[in-house]
Formats: sequence, structure tokens, C-alpha cells
Amino acid sequence: MVNCNSGGEAERILALRRYDVLDTAPEEAFDRITRIAKSALGMPIALVSLLDEHRQWFKSKQGLDVAETSRDVSFCSYTIQDIRPMIVADTLADPRFANNPLVLGRPHIRFYVGVPLRSRDGYNIGSLCCLDSEPRTVTDTQIGILEDLAKIVVDELELRLLVSTDCLTGAMSRQAFHQQVERDMARAQRNGTALSCVLIDIDHFKAINDNYGHAAGDHVLERAVALWRMELRKSDYIGRLGGEEFAVMLPETPLSAALDIAERLRAVLAVNEFTVGGAALAVTASVGVAASQTASGGDDRLLHRADVAMYEAKAAGRNRVVSHAEPGMEPSAPYLSMLEASPLVP
Ligand code: GH3
Ligand code: MG
Ligand code: MG
Repeated sequence: MVNCNSGGEAERILALRRYDVLDTAPEEAFDRITRIAKSALGMPIALVSLLDEHRQWFKSKQGLDVAETSRDVSFCSYTIQDIRPMIVADTLADPRFANNPLVLGRPHIRFYVGVPLRSRDGYNIGSLCCLDSEPRTVTDTQIGILEDLAKIVVDELELRLLVSTDCLTGAMSRQAFHQQVERDMARAQRNGTALSCVLIDIDHFKAINDNYGHAAGDHVLERAVALWRMELRKSDYIGRLGGEEFAVMLPETPLSAALDIAERLRAVLAVNEFTVGGAALAVTASVGVAASQTASGGDDRLLHRADVAMYEAKAAGRNRVVSHAEPGMEPSAPYLSMLEASPLVP
């Protein structure tokens, strides 16, 4: 595998997954590119193909009506092994492809040209390719066009990633977070599974900025998210809702388990010693938890209930976890975490 990076296949898959594009709907931004490729090269088929562990999946396709094929028959699995374009002038004359079912059967590929889609960190996540049912040639100019278009595909993916990620902490931006919550909420309701939300607001954060400077505040935010991430599963995710306010979504997690996790998130922050400008600094946060079971309302209500609980935690003295009971259920006594640490910043 030719990656600029020393990483192997597992890292390549991670680079692909980070774009969060697999199995999304067709989009004009990518269809426009395959249309240009198809007409510039004068070929019947043009594809944006992304390769995961088992399949090649087409984000955009012209002249082909399948959504994906298995990886072992894909031409693109060869293309991603190089940084250069791959050209197969006549598939029947190439022992790698002569018996390929896509050659022997529909769409009867005889000619293939593909250029790798190379992520910014140097992983080939797929290819932009054109296919013909006749053997043929392409000019250097046409290959140049394909290479430029492949860069546009990756730029589009990178830009989307940029706007969906908070650049200071790496948490999801507000909008991307809400979109993901909507998808998870729908899935939880469909499958009858729990979904919990943990809302975290750092205590007296303004005082950290005032006393130690804005850069120290930034350092605290960055480090806090890194600490929380280490306590979470892969399927959990963190959104930055505002300056020093974060929400953590816990799919398939009922309230009781969410409370344990929330307590860990509170504690990991409270026990951490932040160093800013040579000084040690303690930071705490107030945490609100709410869970949505099948009966509960939408995204707004879940986040809202977690927010209400978080404000209760603030009012009760900060550096603690408070839960918000399910609607329709007997309100239980608010869950209060153990307050072994008190906020150091007044
Ligand atoms: P409380 O315990 O009630 O939450 O008090 P607080 O001081 O944390 O809350 P407040 O809302 O008064 O202050 C939040 C501060 O966060 C104000 C704002 O200047 C600061 N802030 C917002 N975004 C950033 C950022 O990206 N970096 C830094 N360093 N500060 C930020
Ligand atoms: Mg705050
Ligand atoms: Mg706040």
C-alpha cells in the first residue's frame, strides 16, 4: 500500500470513515464531477468509488446502476495501491482481470482508467475512474483532467469535515452534532433502544480566562475533550454546543449507565492537574444527564432535559452530576455525584 504515512490498511479505513460519507445519498457536488469525467474522457461509465474493508461503494455513478460491488472483484482495489493512475488497456489481455465477473458479465468492462482519491494525510480511500466496454486509449490531457477532478472530490470531503469539526477541540461542531443526534434519535425510536445525553458546562470558565489568559482557557478546553474521549466508546460522540459547553451522546445507553459515565467524565476532569504557564490549575464541570427511551420526544427535548439537569447541577453548587427523570416516570431524587473535589477557581 502506498501511503505517505507509515499506516497500513486499518489506518486507511479510519481515514475513510472519518469523512462519514459511506452509504449517504447521491449528491450533486459529486455527480457533477463524474459527469465532467464521463464527457471529458468520452466514456460510458464514470464513478467515485470508495473502498472499505469488504466492498467498493459508489458515492457517485454515471452509466452504472449498482450501488456497490464486493471488493475482491473491484478494479479500484488495485488503483489504491499506487499514487499513479492505473490504466487497463484491455481487460481480456490482463491476467488480473480476464476472469473478472465485471468483465465476463455486465457491465462488460474492457477498458479501465482510475486515479486514487488521496486523503490530505496520504491515504488512498478510493478512486475516480472511467470504464468502457471497448478497448481504447486515453490522452495525457484526459488523465490530467481525471487527476484534477480526483483532487476536487477529496477537497469537497475535506471541506465538509472541516465545517463539521470544531478546530480547537476536535469535537463535532454544533450543526454536525445536531444532525447526528437526529439520525441516532430516529434509529433509537425505530429499534426501541435507549439513547442518553450528557451535557457538560465547565465551571467558572470565565475566571480561568481572566486569571490565566485566553490561551490557558483554550488549553483547558482542548485537554478536557481529550480526557473525556478516553472515557468513551467508539460509538459515543462529543459536540461543542457553545464556548465551554459540550454534549456527549451515548447510543444504546440507558439512564443508569449514562449516570456512571457522566460521573466518570466529571471525575476525570476534577482530578486532572492542568498546567498553564507553569502553574497547576484545577478545573471542574457541572453535568446534566437525560435519557430518551422509546416513548420520549425528539432531539430538542432530550438535550433540553439534559440542559435543565445541568443548570440544577450549577445551582446545587457545581462540580456534580444531576439527572433529569424520564417524562411520565416518577421523578426520582436527583442523582448527585460524590463531591470529593471542590472547585478551586472561585
Ligand atoms: P459557570 O460556572 O456559571 O458556567 O460560569 P462560566 O464562567 O463558566 O460561564 P460564562 O458563560 O460566564 O463564561 C464562559 C466564558 O467562556 C466566556 C467566554 O469568553 C469564554 N469562552 C467562550 N469560548 C471560548 C474559547 O473558545 N476559548 C476561551 N479561552 N474562552 C472561551
Ligand atoms: Mg461555564
Ligand atoms: Mg456556559
